[in-house]
Amino acid sequence: MKQAFVDYYQCPSELVDFQTITPLQQQTGYFNLGDAGLYFGQHNHQQVVHNAHQDSPNLLLDCQMTPEGHCLLPFNPSEVAENLRLERYVSAAHANVLKRIFSYTARQTYYAIRPYMPVNIRKYLQRRALHGWDKIPFPHWPVDTSIEQMMHKLLYLNAQVHPKGLPFIWFWPKGYQGAVIISHDVETATGRDFCPKLMDMTEAHEFRSSFQFIPEKRYERDDKLLNQIRKRGFEVNLHGLNHDGHLFDNYQEFYKRAQKINEHARSYQAEGFRSPVMYRNPDWFKELDFSYDMSMPNVAHLDPQRGGCCTVMPYFIDHIVELPLTTTQDYPLFNILQRYNLELWKQQCQEILKHHGLISMLIHPDYVIESRTRAVYETLLAYLSKLADTENLWRALPKEVAHWWRQRSRMRLYQDQEGAWKIRGEGAENARVAFARVEDQHIVYDLVDPA
Ligand SMILES: [Zn+2]
Repeated sequence: MKQAFVDYYQCPSELVDFQTITPLQQQTGYFNLGDAGLYFGQHNHQQVVHNAHQDSPNLLLDCQMTPEGHCLLPFNPSEVAENLRLERYVSAAHANVLKRIFSYTARQTYYAIRPYMPVNIRKYLQRRALHGWDKIPFPHWPVDTSIEQMMHKLLYLNAQVHPKGLPFIWFWPKGYQGAVIISHDVETATGRDFCPKLMDMTEAHEFRSSFQFIPEKRYERDDKLLNQIRKRGFEVNLHGLNHDGHLFDNYQEFYKRAQKINEHARSYQAEGFRSPVMYRNPDWFKELDFSYDMSMPNVAHLDPQRGGCCTVMPYFIDHIVELPLTTTQDYPLFNILQRYNLELWKQQCQEILKHHGLISMLIHPDYVIESRTRAVYETLLAYLSKLADTENLWRALPKEVAHWWRQRSRMRLYQDQEGAWKIRGEGAENARVAFARVEDQHIVYDLVDPA
């Protein structure tokens, strides 16, 4: 019931008291809490809405505080968080745009002839398949922060019990206000050979990034390059098995391929994974031996598989730390939206930083070789670099964010003899105590200066 909230803030569990107003209905539907977020789960309102297009009931009016200080909720926040993060709200019929439009055989043919298809025809087909994406009401475009907004609402309700504020472990190490990661999926041999140049560009702006390689079929493994990437402080990860578009078609096939992927991961010394085309089924991730994954989009309107995890913070899927992709990829920006400026990315970054979230960028070496797109990547790096300086953001490798998130999840807050809140656990020296309190109806976070 309260676990998702306690995990999100890493606050002492005994300071949180949420209970559901029983019984919750068996029916699951959309609802709101009087803010911009939209939620999906079991609740006990009589109006059940199955479609995000319809007006949903406002359940904030049904939340109650008892005189003893218990917070009674007409829904279960942990269930709602899971429904959004694992995309359980996506109905099967709408999950995959390509699956909706083309039959299995047609898709197989599409993937088989795709490499030989003129680029313009490919882009035209993709634009046609994604037609109407801008009319999708949920998740919220261009960034969905429903999880963040729900946590705020819960904090708000809980704050009535803790007028001095709720202590928690700050989201990022050393008091950083957010984090930036840059990652690159390497699609072809041409992209692979462009990696050194891409590292030069990225390094010039004081960033390091991760490269996801396809271990089978697409191109030869280049060990000299892999060593160079590691030596320069960048990161080597895996990008599926062979990028044929069928990794998540059925569980048996996935299981077989996962064993091969795990073998490659050991040989590549890869800690991170991203699924090709962002095809995914988080229920199967437990078969993958990775420290972290980057296959969950925040809002997937421009991806073949629709949905989105509705959060700008990392979270756990079984043993794996999920680092969601919180911004639009370069490919749809250039080819579907046909934009060659930073406007959308800037808008997304600002939205993410309002919630102290993770700015996660996916730039493909293959798509920034030509001068026009390469220039866009250059301006993006300059923008992110300035943003990191002015907003005090953590310029991190994806694996560093994953390590931190795992460490933070194992840390504990305790009170010393004077009653001051302290943090214990591995990595606690980098962690900071913070307080969440309400000021003028808004949530305010105060960071405690390190002793
Ligand atoms: Zn790819």
